[in-house]
Amino acid sequence: MSDPRFAILGDIHGNGPALTAVMEDARGRGVTAWLCVGDIVGYNAEPSECVDRIREVAQATVCGNHDHYCAHESSLEDFHPLAASVVAWTRRQLSEEQVDYLRGLSLVRMVAGFTLVHSTLDMPDKWGYVFDALEAEANFNCQTTSVCFYGHTHVPVVFERDQRTRRTGYRVLKLEAGRKYFVNAGSVGQPRDGDPRAAYVVYDLKSRVVELRRVAYDVAKAQERIRAAGLPERLAQRLSLGK
Ligand code: ZN
Repeated sequence: MSDPRFAILGDIHGNGPALTAVMEDARGRGVTAWLCVGDIVGYNAEPSECVDRIREVAQATVCGNHDHYCAHESSLEDFHPLAASVVAWTRRQLSEEQVDYLRGLSLVRMVAGFTLVHSTLDMPDKWGYVFDALEAEANFNCQTTSVCFYGHTHVPVVFERDQRTRRTGYRVLKLEAGRKYFVNAGSVGQPRDGDPRAAYVVYDLKSRVVELRRVAYDVAKAQERIRAAGLPERLAQRLSLGK
């Protein structure tokens, strides 16, 4: 069997049109296996559809904070108010079975010699954000594989550690032996790096090349669905801005 070519999808956040476009793009790129770094739900209007589609294709999925809060009746005190307002709505859209599925997701998964986590490996259940090299160091101290893919910040960057830790943007990244990489796969459903196109990663295991893909999708349709569902207008607007 040939080596797998992975599509790594994260922070889909119930954005059906973005997920459709990304999956089509990935099929065109010869992807043979699907992985998800969490946050299938939250913010956008099609959580139930997105859960079903990820469940159907993904070989491994880790739990995101939105997945967690939508699957547990826990307090939303430390959640951003805009995010919290969508949690109750999202819970009502999900079936019992879908909630059970989200509840059963692990925080960390190993696949084919690399790692998946939503936030950071040092405290995956605290949902810390890794934006700078210092935060990435804490993660690297717990990272036993050479590469780990993550999500959560919705900003596709890579932290690379050899003698020291560097943070860079990337498009096509060749993984070098003897180094560690903490790679953010970007966000399918709510990009926050100023580029409104959906983002995901193709990882070719054999050539050890990570490619960041940006895919234009029907933003207007996703916005229409947010408005039709009565979700906050700001959630529709930010999709056009990529913020
Ligand atoms: Zn997210």
